[in-house]
Amino acid sequence: MPLASFPNLASPNILVVDDNPDNLGVALTFLSEEQFEVAVATDGASALESARLVNPQLILLDVMLPDMSGFKLCKTLKSSSELSETPVIFMTALDEPQYKVQGFEAGGVDYLTKPLERLELLARIDNHLRIHQQSQILQIANHDLKRANQTLKQQNRSITENNHKLQQLVHIDGLTQVGNRRCFDERLNQEWLRLRRERRPLSLILFDIDYFKAYNDHYGHPAGDTCLVQIAQKVKRLLKRPGDLLTRYGGEEFAIILPNVDAAGAIYIANLIQTEIARLEIHHEASSVGPYVTISQGISTCTPLGSIPPAQLLQSADQALYLAKQQGRDQSIHRNQVPPEESSQTIIPPHPAA
Ligand code: GH3
Ligand code: MG
Ligand code: MG
Repeated sequence: MPLASFPNLASPNILVVDDNPDNLGVALTFLSEEQFEVAVATDGASALESARLVNPQLILLDVMLPDMSGFKLCKTLKSSSELSETPVIFMTALDEPQYKVQGFEAGGVDYLTKPLERLELLARIDNHLRIHQQSQILQIANHDLKRANQTLKQQNRSITENNHKLQQLVHIDGLTQVGNRRCFDERLNQEWLRLRRERRPLSLILFDIDYFKAYNDHYGHPAGDTCLVQIAQKVKRLLKRPGDLLTRYGGEEFAIILPNVDAAGAIYIANLIQTEIARLEIHHEASSVGPYVTISQGISTCTPLGSIPPAQLLQSADQALYLAKQQGRDQSIHRNQVPPEESSQTIIPPHPAA
């Protein structure tokens, strides 16, 4: 009867522990008729040994054994890592409720009173094997779920990391490794809004390499690339404050956002950049300015106000740069952008190295 209902347990192992040969005989007869593989032990010590050896799927355990009580044996089984899950059904002539309670407290799953009754024995075994099997399936499923969950968390972490890297790549110029135009646009808008709230100044420097087309024509495009990298990295190192941002605005033109920097501060930085680029002494034989690579700079400063768009600050810097080019290159021009009526222009004398 029971075997048909255990598709995954072709021949379940059952360990029967009883010191009484008659009782043992009855149990063995009932079980062997049902194709169970049965192991037998007649005292506690050998029961423990057999259980470890056979790893049964169920244990039928007499309460009174010659060397120890079945309850004690059951507790020992339950405390061992390999056998703690094995269902134990007590068999005893002790019918009083307190013994049954003791049996459950010791970790037993059921309690049969002797003499054993065949159908009841088989029905209870069937029931507990099934529960045990389902509990094992659940444990495996739970374990698999935990692993799947861990994998998902791991994947989630790497997606977040990749997103972060992508986000950075989207904002970095591939050649010079400084911020790109998108980075500039986003940061300028952010800083504009922040400094408008704080009523603090914002300065912008646009600088452009002089006669760079001629440089490329003379030294070749790869050398032009190297020059761009050299200049970008040099300027990047000169900007010390965390809020300062150098970006490649396009081609051989760069833009620097200087939050909380007033006109004097911006002029100071522009001068420093001009001097330091001159000190690089990058040969430029095709330049009409001098023997080395030079830059022209347009600087503008304002305290963002009302509805004025940040594009106006940019426009001012661009106009200043245009003037610097017109007036001979290798120089910086500063324009105060806002308010318009106070707009002013400063031509900064060429740097000492020019
Ligand atoms: P000006 O002094 O008026 O700025 O003259 P310019 O020659 O520097 O300016 P122009 O706009 O005529 O030429 C800019 C040159 O910059 C042309 C272009 O090939 C070069 N350029 C732009 N981007 C790159 C780049 O990524 N690598 C290299 N090697 N050259 C570039
Ligand atoms: Mg140029
Ligand atoms: Mg240009």
